[in-house]
Amino acid sequence: MPFDLDWSSIDDVLLDMDGTLLDLHYDTTFWMHHVHEIVGRLTHESPDVIQKRFTDELKTHEGTLTWYCTDYWAEFFGIDLMAAKRELAHLIRFRPHAEPFLQALKKSRLRTLIATNAHRDVVTLKLEVLPLDQMVDGIVSSHDFGVAKEHPDFWRHLFEQHAIDPGRALFIDDSPKVLDAAEQAGVREIIEIRHPNLAMPPRSHWKKGIEDFDALLPSLEAIGT
Ligand SMILES: [Mg+2]
Repeated sequence: MPFDLDWSSIDDVLLDMDGTLLDLHYDTTFWMHHVHEIVGRLTHESPDVIQKRFTDELKTHEGTLTWYCTDYWAEFFGIDLMAAKRELAHLIRFRPHAEPFLQALKKSRLRTLIATNAHRDVVTLKLEVLPLDQMVDGIVSSHDFGVAKEHPDFWRHLFEQHAIDPGRALFIDDSPKVLDAAEQAGVREIIEIRHPNLAMPPRSHWKKGIEDFDALLPSLEAIGT
């Protein structure tokens, strides 16, 4: 179903990466299965024991940069985390209509920035598979600012460093807590991605959202250049 958006009120389009532009299936498969198998081969613990150790630790870091920090988890598990992530690189792919959406943005007067909580190492890995950096005007990692997107300081740094007027910005993400933070930071238009993981059914946690970018494409293409 088309999403009603007044593009003339927008100058900057801020896009999350994992679960928004890219299929979250890659990340979920890695963190919920693959990493436990690798650790299990080293420690001979059962997958259940590793999973519990991981989820208990993860809970204490919810909404912080540590949650997203590959260096931290490499040390926690005692493995080469990026090598492990690379083993699943074949699962890194666009979500439906993300590519034509980015192409239409590129043709428009709008500035497009990716705003991600992913560690720079992970961003680099994804760019090896998909040339996202060539499709947008910039990629911002919250690790550059030292605070996650869930934190008000992330938004202050982002707006200052890139001269963004939040009152003329659109933000799209799949995390309800991040969407809340964007709203509190004064971002004008906020849209939830409701089908972040293509291997799972769609879900809806936020008041405004779309399943796929095809809901925004007709109105975006209609604004011309
Ligand atoms: Mg996401």
